[in-house]
Amino acid sequence: MSRILVVEDEEHLASGLRFNLEAEGYQVEVEETGEAALDRLTAPAPDFDLVILDVMLPGKDGFTVMSELRQAGQFIPTLMLTARGHPDDVLQGFAAGADDYLAKPFELAILIARIRGLLRRREWLRASLDRAATPEPDAFTFGDKSVHFDLLELRVRDQVFPLTLMEGNVLRYLIQHEDRPVSRKAMLEEVWGLHEDTDTRAIDNFIVRLRRYIEQDPTRPRHLLTVRGVGYRFVASPAKDSA
Ligand code: CA
Repeated sequence: MSRILVVEDEEHLASGLRFNLEAEGYQVEVEETGEAALDRLTAPAPDFDLVILDVMLPGKDGFTVMSELRQAGQFIPTLMLTARGHPDDVLQGFAAGADDYLAKPFELAILIARIRGLLRRREWLRASLDRAATPEPDAFTFGDKSVHFDLLELRVRDQVFPLTLMEGNVLRYLIQHEDRPVSRKAMLEEVWGLHEDTDTRAIDNFIVRLRRYIEQDPTRPRHLLTVRGVGYRFVASPAKDSA
């Protein structure tokens, strides 16, 4: 599980980021100042895979934090949150050593896509440093569709849909339990690592999204079936007349 450090002083935005990133399966920690973030990230062996760094911070601003991190030899992937309409911010961010940026306000889906991109590049880098073992492709094919868990892609004929980490995990869980009903509670516990009281509507939203990719007619699903009062059931090869 990837760990993300969010450096953001606006409590509302920081907690929103934490909530949404945790829903995607990331572990999230928040620091409110650049100084605190620098302390954590320049400590021996900081345990983070990625940093989301706001520009506007009390004390040291994001640019200063970014360049001090790089000067300290800390090259952890970092995405900066800049102010919309300030291309200078973007250039200054890259000059300071940022890997990517996003202008505020941003779409959550875009942020998650950027995060995945950065983490994937990090994995590629690791893989290129360690070519000794070539892993088996991690994929599942049903009908004219295939899920590539390693690439986080769903291919339907010649179309490719990128999956978020959590969409991939939900699909994997359903596929592992092919033809058997799985409860929302079990999915929350096994996929998200969450317990009981969590709102299970989050799962329904994932299923709605996945159906849009997988089902020819998402209102009449044939693969991702609703099991009334329980949850969902994945069927790889639906009978011809079951539509
Ligand atoms: Ca801020």
